Amino acid sequence: MFTNCLDGARRGSLPDLTTLAIHWPSFPVLRSMGLFNVFFHHLDEGKVPSPRSPASESLIESAYLSLAAISRLCDFQSQIEDVDSALKAWPGIFKWSKFFFVTRMLHPTGEEMRYPCMQIITGAWCGLVRTERLRTAMTDTPGSIELATKIWLFEGSLQAIGDTNPLAATGGLCNIIQFDCQRGVDRVLDAAGGDVHKVAQHALSRLRKVLEGTQPDISDLKIAVHAVQCLGPPMKIALRDAFLDGNSIWWMTKALASISSTISRNPDRTTVGAMRTCLSYLGENLNAKEGYAFVIQSINAGLLPALANCSPAMGTETSENLEVAILRDTLHRYVLYRPVLRCLHSALAKLHGSQGRRKAEASVIKDDWINLEIDVVERYRDLSMLSDNRCCDNVKCRKIGEKAQFRKCGSCSVAFHCSKECQVQDWKEGDHKVKCKVAQRDAAEGATEELGKRDFEFIKSQTLQDAYRGIPELKMIAARDHPGVPYSRLVIVISHLVSPPSYMLEPLEGYTGVPRGGEDHTVMRPQSQPIIATVKEDPTKLTLIESRVAFGETCKLVLTWTSVDFWGDGGNRDNGSKEKVLPFARKSV
Ligand SMILES: [Zn+2]
Ligand SMILES: [Zn+2]
Repeated sequence: MFTNCLDGARRGSLPDLTTLAIHWPSFPVLRSMGLFNVFFHHLDEGKVPSPRSPASESLIESAYLSLAAISRLCDFQSQIEDVDSALKAWPGIFKWSKFFFVTRMLHPTGEEMRYPCMQIITGAWCGLVRTERLRTAMTDTPGSIELATKIWLFEGSLQAIGDTNPLAATGGLCNIIQFDCQRGVDRVLDAAGGDVHKVAQHALSRLRKVLEGTQPDISDLKIAVHAVQCLGPPMKIALRDAFLDGNSIWWMTKALASISSTISRNPDRTTVGAMRTCLSYLGENLNAKEGYAFVIQSINAGLLPALANCSPAMGTETSENLEVAILRDTLHRYVLYRPVLRCLHSALAKLHGSQGRRKAEASVIKDDWINLEIDVVERYRDLSMLSDNRCCDNVKCRKIGEKAQFRKCGSCSVAFHCSKECQVQDWKEGDHKVKCKVAQRDAAEGATEELGKRDFEFIKSQTLQDAYRGIPELKMIAARDHPGVPYSRLVIVISHLVSPPSYMLEPLEGYTGVPRGGEDHTVMRPQSQPIIATVKEDPTKLTLIESRVAFGETCKLVLTWTSVDFWGDGGNRDNGSKEKVLPFARKSV
């Protein structure tokens, strides 16, 4: 029976070909009987019609049925056995695909054929691309990725079939380019006329469409998020930025939130795969460009509840854990920025006592989650205190009280003191005499920052707090790395690029304010050079503190200073004087 059918199909019997195309997956034995060679035979390169040699309808129908038959490989997750024959057949399959794209998809009268046609082309390609040797031949064929791109762009213009939103071509395109993203993406871009925004908008609109449904289909979601990750890779800056400008962070976070609502009920491969795609995209891009706008965008789109609800699906390994990385390496680096801190605080407060919060606490992200919470709560307390209160700028006092009780320095309008005595002491013995001059000059020269003055002041106050908190560690580092050097000759360097912050000391002599090794692009405050010069002039009075804070792909270098009294013994390091009780001292995290 099989032999007759195969023979009939080979001779071009349309009923036999139809039977095979529909039923072959149910009869595995057919595959060892030369099934695919029958299909390849009808997809021969020499049979493709051209204006000079138009083909008969039945020839075209045979090719169509054969391509449809091959496309079912895709549904059954199986690979082709006879790779050599498939390799030989590929040029024909490609030319026929082109033919069907032009005549049946683009042709105005081929309306009803467009969707099935697109499905069989992308289906057949998806089935073949699973085999490595075929994949290489396919991507090496000039015009292949370009055709897949055109079909992908065309897919978006198709009306939805029933309630489904076709994503076959999206999946097909990504399947072809994902193994050589670098070159593949360039060809996609060329085929789209070099228009990065067109590519980004198209991929993002597909994702938006999927998310618009009340209960997005998880397979569709997986394809749509994969397309965003695949087509906007970090190394292609123009494309990546087009995606970011199209609010990819917002939509990928929304996708993660959608996944997080079903993942605990259904943690299957597709769902977990889609989750990982979103997490790795966010992990790679939240730090993109300058600043922290994407961090805020993601938090506002529901990043924290999504992370909490996904946490049970993250397994138990902390290393290479994408959620841990987002919490520790991304979110935690930005807590010193007031807008981020406010956002994080309100998102965490909403989660308090929730089921999601309990999930996070029982999962692999527990420690990093709690560390972030503690840090946010404590810094937020400082932030609210600073907005209602003031702290005396006299380092020997540092009293905190209501704003109204403080006296503003009449010359610089920057410093505040709790009393006339403190004002005098800070001027004569403290550092205000120099600070005042710098502040007046800044105001006169209109020295501005991308960050507002209050943001900057907050980072400086937190830097000072972290410095106080680190005194025991700093003294240890001094004893180990700089024995015999007076504290007053050391610069305190705090890196907030890691969590918890790390402490270092550098000799004041030779300190330039530019990180050695140039590992980070550093944006400096314009007046940092005068600050360094001023401290160097009289190091017995002032201690310089440098804080490095993440700012997207760059980092901010914030310089502040404090009186040498900071060290607790006048900058000498002999007598082990008691630790001061500090107003903002926090428990270590
Ligand atoms: Zn005071
Ligand atoms: Zn002043």
